[in-house]
Amino acid sequence: MAKTYDVIIKNGLVVTGTKIQKTDIGIKGEKIAAIQSSLPDKEVGRVIEASGKYVMPGVIDVHTHPVYEDDMGGLAVTAAHGGTTTLIHYAYAKPGMKLVDTLHRFKDEGLKKSCLDFAIHGALFDPANQVEEIPKAFRLGVTSFKMFMTYAKLKWMTDDYWLAAAMDLIGANGGLAMVHAENGLVTDYFEDRSLKKREDPKKVFVKTRPDYLEAEAIFRAITIATVTHCPLYVVHLSTAKGVVPVQRAREEGQVVYAESCPQYLSLTDRDLQKKGPLAKIGPPLRFDSDRFALWQAIRGGIIDVIASDHAPKAKKIDDPFFEAAYGSAQAETMLSVAYDEGINSGWIGPCQLVRLLSENPAKIFGFYPKKGTILKGSDADLVLFDPTEIQEIRQKKLHSGAPYTVYEGRKCLGKPVLTMQRGKIVVENGEMKGSPGSGKFLSTKIKKVKC
Ligand SMILES: [Zn+2]
Repeated sequence: MAKTYDVIIKNGLVVTGTKIQKTDIGIKGEKIAAIQSSLPDKEVGRVIEASGKYVMPGVIDVHTHPVYEDDMGGLAVTAAHGGTTTLIHYAYAKPGMKLVDTLHRFKDEGLKKSCLDFAIHGALFDPANQVEEIPKAFRLGVTSFKMFMTYAKLKWMTDDYWLAAAMDLIGANGGLAMVHAENGLVTDYFEDRSLKKREDPKKVFVKTRPDYLEAEAIFRAITIATVTHCPLYVVHLSTAKGVVPVQRAREEGQVVYAESCPQYLSLTDRDLQKKGPLAKIGPPLRFDSDRFALWQAIRGGIIDVIASDHAPKAKKIDDPFFEAAYGSAQAETMLSVAYDEGINSGWIGPCQLVRLLSENPAKIFGFYPKKGTILKGSDADLVLFDPTEIQEIRQKKLHSGAPYTVYEGRKCLGKPVLTMQRGKIVVENGEMKGSPGSGKFLSTKIKKVKC
């Protein structure tokens, strides 16, 4: 006799962006086939008991870098252990590289190695030679493109002329421009001045990258996006001052989305002083006043997305600080840290967490309601989260290739215990059950939405 459902998840607290409901979920094939209480569990492939646990849409992590200690296979594994089911990776087209070739390479690697569904953002390091390829990228299903407004000395920075040129094309094609917003030239001047004075680079790290430089760059990016009619997404917003131009643009009705990351919502320059190169990230870790302002902005709906900026580098605590690379491993700990910091500290509730981690990213990048929510007909991309389990974060328990975590020893109340993608269990009780190459490539389609 045919099975009614392949899987039933029983008695969980099912969380979407709008409500929490104690109910069962019936899954058939890759899809959610029923959401109702007391689903009959006869002729069912498997019944998963979820009482006392949250059942949330899988996390959609839209900010990952699969080119350091985790490749697209490893990154999907570490992310899946943290409750993530969909990734959007940055494909970095560095100077001298072609954009479309780079996108093809990332797509091919992901199809071969990723156990999670994934999409790709283009990242232009050399827009003067790369913008002409933007329309071709759309045909590949890549519709969002990042530029750096900082790292001038590294030759990663896009100036205003090419920001405008890129945004003009991106906007005309219905895409989304994304910016790392810090004023690069002033940052470089401050850094050079500090080097001349022989200051301790760790002590002055945050001082050479002050909040005003983020706010200025955000305002400038919004200005250029406005006059070129291009939707804008500000990645890793890190300061109280940076919230202001985003809020103003929203009030004026412009399409500007903002993202922050668990590290800016939970750590500060105090952690950098203790952990040195391990906590060196760009933009830098800030102050409690910034952290609190970011949570306020989340509550006020100004920040739409929490994403990881997972960039695992092989750093050691006693490496020379100035030479140390930017970035840290964040994908696997993101849901736990955001839950502990956001919900257990009382900033937000479970529905808003789901909006930030799943629903809003799905809406912005065009996956909704196939992904990012729990509805009949949606992909069965789910995470079961036990809010009563205490986990102590330890690098040796994580699955990233990064040799450390900035959260070493942190205790979080709440833990993801099962990750399911399109009806298949990827991770259960810490055990990997997914397989490389089972992830699908997703085209993005930018939606102008109110998150
Ligand atoms: Zn990043």
